[in-house]
Amino acid sequence: MSAIQLPKDFESQMQILLGKKEYELFLNAIDKPARTSIRLNTSKPFKLNWSASQIPWTVTGYFLEERPSFTLDPIFHAGGYYVQEASSMFIDHILKSLEIPKGIYLDLAAAPGGKSTLLSTYLGNEGLLVANEVIQSRAQILKENVIKWGLGNTLVTNNDPDHFYPLEGFFDLVLVDAPCSGEGMFRKDPQAREEWSVDHVTLCASRQKRIMDQAGALVKGGGYLIYSTCTFNEQENEDMIRFLTDEFAFEPVRIALEESWGIVESSVQTEDGKFYGYRFFPHLVEGEGFFITILKRPDTASSQEPGRIKDFKHAVLKSVSEKDAEALELELGFDGSGKYYTLNDSYFRIQREFYRYFEKLSQVLSLRYFGVELGKKQKNEWIPSHEWALSNLPKTQFSSLELTQSQALEFLRKNDFQIEDIPLGWVLIKYQGLPLGWIKNLGNRINNYYPKEWRIRI
Ligand code: SAM
Repeated sequence: MSAIQLPKDFESQMQILLGKKEYELFLNAIDKPARTSIRLNTSKPFKLNWSASQIPWTVTGYFLEERPSFTLDPIFHAGGYYVQEASSMFIDHILKSLEIPKGIYLDLAAAPGGKSTLLSTYLGNEGLLVANEVIQSRAQILKENVIKWGLGNTLVTNNDPDHFYPLEGFFDLVLVDAPCSGEGMFRKDPQAREEWSVDHVTLCASRQKRIMDQAGALVKGGGYLIYSTCTFNEQENEDMIRFLTDEFAFEPVRIALEESWGIVESSVQTEDGKFYGYRFFPHLVEGEGFFITILKRPDTASSQEPGRIKDFKHAVLKSVSEKDAEALELELGFDGSGKYYTLNDSYFRIQREFYRYFEKLSQVLSLRYFGVELGKKQKNEWIPSHEWALSNLPKTQFSSLELTQSQALEFLRKNDFQIEDIPLGWVLIKYQGLPLGWIKNLGNRINNYYPKEWRIRI
């Protein structure tokens, strides 16, 4: 039993939502330990050695029987999986069951990156994701997680939702996993119980409306808006559906559910029809508390396509010419689909198909990262970046070295380590076939290039 009591007003609210009898089941559930779950990065396959069972609504999600030390697992640092609670992974079911078209996506409240990495996997090479976070320190964590995930289809930005106003009708999908009163976290994070009050719920609801008033306008005609919270109350959930359908033209979307999943569908009748929301209660679902709804913009709503920017001008970014880009793709053994930019002499690559979208976005938003940073080229020698090591782009011109678990941990601690017969020059370090970073063998010594700020300290 948690030492922190539930607020009385919260108890009354939940009893109204669930009824007295079911409320008892809810109470029992939130005093049980939360289950640990991970979502696999399908672009970085490895052999899962833990006892695990499949999460019913996503083929890439697994409950683990026990919580391992992720810090001491090199595969965690290689980006082989993301530790994410199971309810959030329902977004995978939404995308796949509705076959939502790929394209330009926005995750407006993205840090630390659980849902962004899921969207990035869904898009693969067929789209571009803007993962935005308003708080600077959290944008840095988001950037690290995006780099580890390694798909090269994501821009990390650090903007207030208001800054997006020139991008109305730009996105095929906008996801807002809103800051909320956190009732669904009462099990995982007992401190959330202390912060809860009726006034806090009201404050969260008005902040969410400010965010969604902007977010709703960013979806293009025929596109989708996904709104989620980790809270149960109707003020932050069903009332938001009412707000959105009052402010904008939206069409309802209903999601197919299996009864055995325990997810509770709710509905809101509006002038535009019956809209649906999905609630995850911890006594019915093996996951944390969660609410999600999806709405579709009518095809007739306005859309914005970026024009072609003839002479790309940016305060710090420079576009690499087509001719130089072709030469780079050949030299690096890439598939010919890259568009390149430089920032402080470091090369960045994005999928060429989306460059017009990227250039428009780069002029509106504060970029923290985009595509894949490859590193610098000095006197015909590449100084490859850590980001390239972790990306899924080829690194065929470099030697590589597979390490044991204890050697890999020494590498991740950024310690010096001795191994016989290492090739000279840059060497890609791998664990179970997944890249972890670079070392450089100078002959008389080996330099460990694992980033200082990423090193593990245990
Ligand atoms: N989607 C994330 C994930 O799956 O990892 C979790 C997002 S968390 C629930 C909500 C995020 O909204 C936080 O990172 C928080 O910093 C951000 N946030 C706080 N105030 C905001 C605001 N006014 N506008 C937009 N985002 C805000």
